[in-house]
Amino acid sequence: DTIGDNLAHTVAAFGDREALVDHPSGRRWTYREFAADVDAVALGLAARGVGKGDRVGIWSPNCPEWTLVQYATAKLGAILVNINPAYRTHELTYVLNQAGISTLISASGFKSSDYVAMIDEARPDCPTLSDVLVLGTPEWHDLLATGAAADRARLDDIAATLSPDDPINIQYTSGTTGFPKGATLSHHNILNNGFFVGELCGYTEADRICIPVPFYHCFGMVMGNLAATSHGACMVIPAPGFDAATTLETVAAERCTSLYGVPTMFIAELSEPSLDEYDVSSLRTGIMAGAPCPAEIMKQVIDRLGMREVTICYGMTETSPVSMQTRTDDTIERRVSTVGRVHPHLEVKIIDPESGLTVPRGTPGEFCTRGYSVMLGYWQQADETAEAIDAARWMHTGDIAVMDDEGYVQITGRIKDMIIRGGENIYPREIEEFLHTHPDIVDAQVIGVPDERYGEETMAWVILRDGAEPMTAESLREFATGRLTHYKIPRYVHVVDEFPMTVTGKVRKVDMREQAREILS
Ligand code: ATP
Ligand code: MG
Repeated sequence: DTIGDNLAHTVAAFGDREALVDHPSGRRWTYREFAADVDAVALGLAARGVGKGDRVGIWSPNCPEWTLVQYATAKLGAILVNINPAYRTHELTYVLNQAGISTLISASGFKSSDYVAMIDEARPDCPTLSDVLVLGTPEWHDLLATGAAADRARLDDIAATLSPDDPINIQYTSGTTGFPKGATLSHHNILNNGFFVGELCGYTEADRICIPVPFYHCFGMVMGNLAATSHGACMVIPAPGFDAATTLETVAAERCTSLYGVPTMFIAELSEPSLDEYDVSSLRTGIMAGAPCPAEIMKQVIDRLGMREVTICYGMTETSPVSMQTRTDDTIERRVSTVGRVHPHLEVKIIDPESGLTVPRGTPGEFCTRGYSVMLGYWQQADETAEAIDAARWMHTGDIAVMDDEGYVQITGRIKDMIIRGGENIYPREIEEFLHTHPDIVDAQVIGVPDERYGEETMAWVILRDGAEPMTAESLREFATGRLTHYKIPRYVHVVDEFPMTVTGKVRKVDMREQAREILS
């Protein structure tokens, strides 16, 4: 099926159920209304000349129109290019040119960013960009009106020209380890992945999913939107720009059954002073993903947020994204210590990155996956594509993982983040887990820093709870001695209020390493 076919099935089965709620504005759509607006946007875009294979950029924080455009472009076979809402002019210019975007749909701005001014600045350098549409303007409403008045039969004609394997989406990776790359994905890639994510969360038309994670990233648009629409569940959008209190308020007001977040979002919700004021008892499940999930946090998500069927997902943009997920009936132990088992219809293997041979169970190696979820390739980056996907179509993730005898996998870090201290491999993740057991530590990250004697040394960056005693390398050493192998005890401690982050909420260890070098010099 294409995404359009799938949406039609959902409308036929659950047309009167709620599809989308924009909590800040109170706007609501049933599936029938949602599909009608998707068609109006599709026909409105077609009237402005958008067709199959054209790149349509979307640059906006989460809003209902983002979702309408997502489904509308899929119905046209156009390629939606997700643009990071935090981008500034020079990054915008790069993406517009890299993807050859002809139509750009944008918000007027977000927080202190004036998108319209940045687009004007970028335009002279972007020869492919021929049309810019700003959401909420009279021009946008004209597009909707034109589309609503157009002949629907046109969309059936277009549908006949589409194939599930057509590229329909370019998603840039988070840029955690370097410059973002544009993963090119098909209907088949992301629709199936969204569907199986929803299956493993046990979604039905009764579910209401609170999505505070960005739509521009696969976490929002695939694991959120496509998981919802392929099951007739409802997408609930809290105010854009993550905020713990407004997210909790949305869950309570909309009686959400599922809540998404990267670990840092759940950490913020759990330490939100007003947490107990919100009735979040409707929560059943949800997804924590995108970065390692500390066991302590997982336990609290289950106990204090009541997300007893919460699942952990592991994946990457290049694989649509999810390849591993815990099951809702997995033991808590499994859910706090692993990313679960392989998704239906996918293969995984763990290899020695040097030899390429599969390692025995229990031995760390590079996680590789193969199957329907593997992207078509990086957009116009053939060399990078060939580096990531081998001749047998295995995607090499760059992540280090260990698989047990029953197929449960632990992600122990990225190959690039591994610390080699005096010949000893140290996985920062293990130390970070340990630091979370310290009563004063709210969040912790560990990096390697250059060291003359050992090659690399360990440095912990910690966020302390309010009112905590100052922390030094000595006081931490005292706490850790006897509980952590001596060479894993952080040599340096750096107390911060926050970590350098990507907008998807991931910690940029590249930036931390750079700053650490300055601190230590
Ligand atoms: P870039 O590729 O641009 O450096 P990125 O890899 O962070 O950025 P994404 O595709 O958004 O971009 O993220 C995928 C990565 O996130 C995975 O390769 C893995 O390192 C990490 N990750 C995802 N889920 C988990 C998880 N559950 N546990 C640990 N790490 C995870
Ligand atoms: Mg990556």
